[in-house]
Amino acid sequence: MITVQMLYQLQEVEVEIESLIKTLNACLKKLGENEKLSAARSKLFSIHNKLEELKKKQQEIDWTIDDIEAKLKKSNDDLYSGRINNPKELTNLQQDVKNMESQRKQQEDGALEIMAQIETVTAEQSAQTICFKAIESEWRNEHAALIDEAQRLKTSISKLKEKREAMVAAIEPEILDYYNQLKVKKGLAVSKIEQGMCCGCRISLSTAELQRVRTGQVVECSSCHRILYLA
Ligand SMILES: [Zn+2]
Repeated sequence: MITVQMLYQLQEVEVEIESLIKTLNACLKKLGENEKLSAARSKLFSIHNKLEELKKKQQEIDWTIDDIEAKLKKSNDDLYSGRINNPKELTNLQQDVKNMESQRKQQEDGALEIMAQIETVTAEQSAQTICFKAIESEWRNEHAALIDEAQRLKTSISKLKEKREAMVAAIEPEILDYYNQLKVKKGLAVSKIEQGMCCGCRISLSTAELQRVRTGQVVECSSCHRILYLA
């Protein structure tokens, strides 16, 4: 009886170790995953790049306008200086001024459009920053909880493994070999008896089988061949 009970307890510890290892692996997998966070980060990054590009464009337009204005000033100065008397030259100069004014208007319209775009993208950036920070903080909390959980699981597993070693050491080697072979074949080597039935295969046991189990012998179920255990 003692032996079968020890085997059953060993099995329970082993089942628990397996289950904790599965939970630990799921936990470690989760720790490595942060798709939501990296998606939010890359979206923020792309908005930032878009904004930088718009600002660069705005700077270029400003420079172009400055350039046009400098040329305009020079042409206007020439035009009103009284130095140019040739009518054809004056007409050409007036035309140049007109062209430059039209260019300036075009650039200024472009600048307004860019400014509106910058405003839109800046708002987008603020919204995405808030969103990113929320996801990051949620992830950090979850991350901390997962690290704690993984640590707790590792400790439990190592304690159970120590317990298992002690149990294994107390069982006769031949019985342990037999148990291990059955475990390989059946998944679970020991089957509990409940209401006269083997829990491994749900077959009703004969009175003789039950009697042998009660005497403490190592008895195999005649149907599934697991070691029978009566609590
Ligand atoms: Zn059975």
